[in-house]
Amino acid sequence: MRMSARLWATEAPAVSSPPLSKRIAILGSTGSIGCAAVDVIEHLGPPYRATALSGHSNCGALIAQAKKLRPEVVAVTAECDRDAVEKQLHHLGCETFFGPTALTEIATHPEVDAVLSAVVGAAGLPAAIATVRAGKPLLLANKESLVVAGEILMREAKATACPILPVDSEHSAVFQAMRAGRRNEIRRVILTASGGPFRNWPPDKIESATPADALKHPVWQMGSKITIDSATMFNKAAEILEAIWLFGLEPEQVEVVIHPESVVHSMVEFCDGSTIAQLSPPNMRLPIQYAMTYPERSDGCGPKLDLTKAFSLTFQPPDVERFPALRIAFEVARGGGTLGAVMNAANEVAVEAFLKGRTSFGSIARTVETTIARHTIVQQPGLSDLLAADHWARAEAGKLLVESSLSEKVVGAAVR
Ligand code: NAD
Ligand code: MG
Repeated sequence: MRMSARLWATEAPAVSSPPLSKRIAILGSTGSIGCAAVDVIEHLGPPYRATALSGHSNCGALIAQAKKLRPEVVAVTAECDRDAVEKQLHHLGCETFFGPTALTEIATHPEVDAVLSAVVGAAGLPAAIATVRAGKPLLLANKESLVVAGEILMREAKATACPILPVDSEHSAVFQAMRAGRRNEIRRVILTASGGPFRNWPPDKIESATPADALKHPVWQMGSKITIDSATMFNKAAEILEAIWLFGLEPEQVEVVIHPESVVHSMVEFCDGSTIAQLSPPNMRLPIQYAMTYPERSDGCGPKLDLTKAFSLTFQPPDVERFPALRIAFEVARGGGTLGAVMNAANEVAVEAFLKGRTSFGSIARTVETTIARHTIVQQPGLSDLLAADHWARAEAGKLLVESSLSEKVVGAAVR
């Protein structure tokens, strides 16, 4: 991949400038990050407000949030009983949008100053692009947008001088650590990874792990897709690409280290050999709040580290044999073009099949790798090329999963 077009959309504004984000749209407000973002806004208090919310299939939770927060606009993206939902939301004084374009409608709404994207999957991409085109700060949890279309998203953000502020804990840590030096002084970025539930499992046990095994994350409480991604380490694979795009790095400048305690959220090594780390208990409220209050800091609502108690922090190299996602990520970063979109789409399809008990844990990485191997890369893709690659990869991965389910015994019950 030609990395020369890398951009630096997260360049720090003057430290004295006021916080960027006040009237915030939370895309995916009913999810794990979305609910934590609501807590942070309530903790910060005025002038911070959630003026727009969105949910997919969980309309009950979305309406309950709307009753509490009284946003100006609400989006429902999945099929639902529109008349019934609209009636309830109208009663609360909310303008309501439905369907796949609803996220873009609320992201670009005049009542919204900044957008926190906490939807899961490539479904978040159109609204992310619309946000930066509208010149609104994008507080990004939805890493899939950068995996699929990092170059386009960063270019569009640069064109409108729009900051993209990381919400992912590792990238927030890197963003914070980067303030210790200049951009051209950075040698490399070290992303930490908990290692997930299978960190110490032997390969044959990992191969046949069930959805219930994979959903038991040792540290983080998250949505089901990212929890499975943590078990396969496709979450870290996505984060490698996220870091490359967000911070304008070469693939060789990104490293991953296993750190089971998840207290050091990531590190930046500078050219003089100094390594700056960001430490805090594993809780997403801190990176969410930092993205909202940046460039200022406010009192945090999450737990604090107690360094007076004895504890140890451990680090070990990742095992790419048992977790091939990491090797695949670097191949995708070097291959460039449409490969990120293909990796993401194949993974989304395989994770869904695994959660429904239709395929084995081991076949997730095999499906992604084979789909990538069968793809003809389009270099310097436009958005339509990326969407075409996404559609192609979903179909191809689906075919591979059917073939593999005929040849392998699928273990584990489906998660409903
Ligand atoms: P989640 O499953 O808990 O929530 C997802 C949200 O997106 C829900 O509000 C859901 O209604 C909505 N949604 C689902 N499908 C959608 C679709 N097709 N269109 C529009 N909206 C849809 O997920 P999560 O754990 O909150 O993760 C959200 C994003 O944040 C993911 O990209 C994930 O990788 C990232 N992230 C999560 C964490 C975490 O701790 N949970 C940490 C870092 C990054
Ligand atoms: Mg992360």
